[in-house]
Amino acid sequence: MDANTIERALIIGAGTMGHGIAQVLAMIGIETRLADVNEAALESAMAKVRANLDKGVDKGKVEAHVRDAALARLSTTTDLAGGSAGVHCVIEAVPERLELKQGILSDLGARLGPDVLLASNTSSLPLTEIAKVVPHPERVVGMHFFNPVHIMKLVEVVRADQSSDAAVAATVGLATRMGKDPITVIDRPGFASSRLGIAIGMEAIRMVEEGVASAQDIDKAMTLGYGFPMGPLKLTDLVGLDVRLSIADYLSEALGPRFEPPALLRQMVERGELGKKSGQGFYDWS
Ligand code: NAD
Repeated sequence: MDANTIERALIIGAGTMGHGIAQVLAMIGIETRLADVNEAALESAMAKVRANLDKGVDKGKVEAHVRDAALARLSTTTDLAGGSAGVHCVIEAVPERLELKQGILSDLGARLGPDVLLASNTSSLPLTEIAKVVPHPERVVGMHFFNPVHIMKLVEVVRADQSSDAAVAATVGLATRMGKDPITVIDRPGFASSRLGIAIGMEAIRMVEEGVASAQDIDKAMTLGYGFPMGPLKLTDLVGLDVRLSIADYLSEALGPRFEPPALLRQMVERGELGKKSGQGFYDWS
């Protein structure tokens, strides 16, 4: 297993993350198939990739021939099994449900040779649980990208209990080939990024609850005081309060009461104040 020999990849799930992962792989010369159960999702994914690449060309960040070659290397399919023929690597980016990811990777694991890397873009599920149903589980690794994939540099490479050193090294190598800056973490709830991000986010919400300062000023404490590009409350609005609540619930169950979400967060979610997508969160987006 070697990142430099990966020439063909299959991405499963053409949503927010899948289309971005496919775009970057195609841009670095990998023949990439994008698979989804939903034909409309595939069309929309291709339109987004085209728009991203066109914008890159307009801004002078992507050369026109790189865009054209990337588009030529991308194909779509609703046939997962057929799409997997001859690939060296699979990255799944289907919705965050353990049984769904287990089902897809165990089917493909049975179909593909033991040297084919099987990566999951899960942002929170235990990789060790995913790997345990997959034939040759040593080639299962977490590859946690960030949104938008074509811009964000971080990839968290998550080592399941079963992951081999070779699979982890190949995943780090592939992320590096993709122009990313990977970190390696073991399979613990929240990995590195969600665990720290949620800790800061929940504390910021508790501070709003206690009236320590306004949302704007709490965010400024971190942007101006610590050089964060965005404050934790604005970030919560962008990610979605419901999304952050479910991650905090999961982490408090897995890691203990220090991750218990504040009452204010639950109340806001119950009121439908979900952040930018609903028009109201810690900020007014309407
Ligand atoms: P999404 O809902 O935008 O896309 C999921 C896609 O998977 C949809 O197009 C859906 O049609 C497709 N799908 C569903 N079942 C399928 C199946 N059986 N076979 C093939 N395709 C199927 O989801 P997303 O936001 O891209 O998230 C995907 C994964 O990435 C999740 O595990 C999520 O936790 C993780 N993640 C998301 C983000 C983010 O910011 N959205 C960031 C990091 C990681």
